[in-house]
Amino acid sequence: MDLSKLDMPVQFLKGVGPRRGESLARMGLVTARDVLYHVPRRYDDASTVHRIGDLAVGMDATIVGRIRTKGVIPTRARLRIFQAILEDESGRITVTWPGQPWLDQKLKEGDTLLVSGSVKFFHGPQLQPREFVIMDREDSGADKDQGVIFTSYPASEDVPQWVLRGLYEKNLDDLLSRAGDEEYMPSVERDRIGLLPLPETFRRLHRPETLLDPERGRQRLAFDELFFLQVLQALVRHRETQTRSGIRFERSNDLIRPLLEALPFSLTDAQTRVLREITTDMTSEHRMNRMLQGDVGSGKTLVALFAMLVAVEDGHQAALMVPTEILAEQHTRTIRELVEPLGVRVALLTGRLKAAARREVMSEIASGAASIVIGTHALIQDGVEFARLGLTVVDEQHRFGVRQRMALAERDPSPDLLLMSATPIPRSLAMTLYGDLDLSILDELPPGRQPVQTFLRGPAGRDEVWEFVRRELDAGRQGYVVYPLVDESEKVDLRSATAQFEFLSEEVFPDRRLGLLHGQMPGDEKDRVMRAFLAGEIDLLVATTVIEVGIDVANASIMVIDHAERFGLSQLHQLRGRVGRGADESYCVLIAEPGEVAGERLKIFRDTSDGFEIARADLQIRGQGDLFGSQQSGRDPNLRFADLTRDEAILIEAQRLARAIVEADPELRAQAHTAVRNVLYARHAERLAFYEVG
Ligand code: ADP
Ligand code: MG
Repeated sequence: MDLSKLDMPVQFLKGVGPRRGESLARMGLVTARDVLYHVPRRYDDASTVHRIGDLAVGMDATIVGRIRTKGVIPTRARLRIFQAILEDESGRITVTWPGQPWLDQKLKEGDTLLVSGSVKFFHGPQLQPREFVIMDREDSGADKDQGVIFTSYPASEDVPQWVLRGLYEKNLDDLLSRAGDEEYMPSVERDRIGLLPLPETFRRLHRPETLLDPERGRQRLAFDELFFLQVLQALVRHRETQTRSGIRFERSNDLIRPLLEALPFSLTDAQTRVLREITTDMTSEHRMNRMLQGDVGSGKTLVALFAMLVAVEDGHQAALMVPTEILAEQHTRTIRELVEPLGVRVALLTGRLKAAARREVMSEIASGAASIVIGTHALIQDGVEFARLGLTVVDEQHRFGVRQRMALAERDPSPDLLLMSATPIPRSLAMTLYGDLDLSILDELPPGRQPVQTFLRGPAGRDEVWEFVRRELDAGRQGYVVYPLVDESEKVDLRSATAQFEFLSEEVFPDRRLGLLHGQMPGDEKDRVMRAFLAGEIDLLVATTVIEVGIDVANASIMVIDHAERFGLSQLHQLRGRVGRGADESYCVLIAEPGEVAGERLKIFRDTSDGFEIARADLQIRGQGDLFGSQQSGRDPNLRFADLTRDEAILIEAQRLARAIVEADPELRAQAHTAVRNVLYARHAERLAFYEVG
């Protein structure tokens, strides 16, 4: 690509020059393209602008008025205040800019300003501007009811509104005429999806004619952002599913059918649907690369087991990797019970095995005698050789690194891969984070589950909560108390697991067996405590969020979460999923700051037990934050325009188009894809290198 006009440094734009160029660069506007993408932060028209005559003290308002008189007022404190009286047809108001006497040169009587700020009382009502825009001088005669839209750009101290406004006045036409240079989407596609061409997109964003224009423009840029992420992920997906030789499993149904018949219940519709998605992948010649998302308790393990049996039926082995030994043991127990009657041998490989036992298990794996192998990270350590590994399932996949998840797949032919996650996230977020995988969703719980009864309490309710816990324990049940921290924090007044463990053991439940569990304990100590709890030797487990993952203690019926305001909704949902696993009624009590107890957030949690709905609310409340982990907070820098809470339909189109293009032309060599390739490289060079694609 020749140096497009859009790659030109800002200093060469009309009216900029080296010094202003530097100020612009400091606010992130380095090239002409950046200027084009720097779109207004807000739009006002007569419907959002207040009439000056309607202003009242205390209001936050935006007005458009003409400067009637103006001047600099000196004060005793040597602060010089610029003041102007603005009027529209309904009235007048004084507007004051403390410490900005230079505005006196800048603004002329008769200029029209758009000002937003708050109305204060100071020798009469005054508008204290947060920001203002000088409308075009030619505009000033225009009737502002006639569809004029006022734009305000994100500005900085160095580069105020009026400078930006001048910049766009002088350059926008030129920039718009270049905006089409980067069009990568054929007009048929664009029309089909209902997106604007790029020049029209930017025109509507910078010079809207109605308040609906900017949203149409935003949708196009949102599509672009999502599309290029999807192209990147489609390239990874292509490599993982098409360029490796996969296994085409033959179904014989000599294991699946007997297991289905032996189960005391039938599969949910969601399980049946997901299982069909999985078997379709497994019986095709392509390699499966699939993510299974399901709410806590939706029955993922059983789905995984059926998938493993598809491999085993065809004479292959299947591996199930889980993050902890306790989980590995738990899965081994349930799975053995189900498949050993069918003559399927299940081996367990963890770091706990003594050398001799370990050698024996390894030889069963190497000979193929063990058809299903369940284990921890021990599965991917050196020396573990499978005879014919056909399928790898990774449970609680987020607990493993990318390389660890892939380790069992780096063979030829490559085993199919099924990743499982018990953290429900909205489909749009899953598609964005895991666009390289195919997605299956278990969005239905088996019938007959009782929802966990959930209560909110303020700090004053603590004693009552302990009384409630005592009643449960007296009835022979077990419970959890969860804290956000291990140790007392100096800065904030937060209860911690360690301190509360002591307090609860000594003061509240001296007659009960309490256990302490947190992430800073040595691994074997954690293990010992968890086993004691499983065996019923601990009544009440005081813990941090380390108990989040997949543990199943049917006798646990109560979960208390202290400082609930510190947890995200999805995390609370995970924790709550640890109870309600048995036949007894179970309870979750959140203790939170009074403000939070009164607020909406925790009420949403209290009133719904659907993990996907909770996740949607969580995404809405917290924003999409940083999805890809490059920054700590704020919006994801890759998604400036896309909003995953609203743009699911756009995202589905973006993924479809990206996959279609990559499948037809994996190297993006075709003439028609040159622009896609160029923009992809410009936007995502680092990621292309990271994933070693492109
Ligand atoms: P998760 O998705 O949280 O891993 P599990 O696989 O542990 O859920 O399943 C939770 C419980 O539900 C298990 O006891 C399992 O036997 C049971 N279960 C799974 N599928 C069904 C079904 N279709 N009907 C009834 N119970 C089921
Ligand atoms: Mg599970």
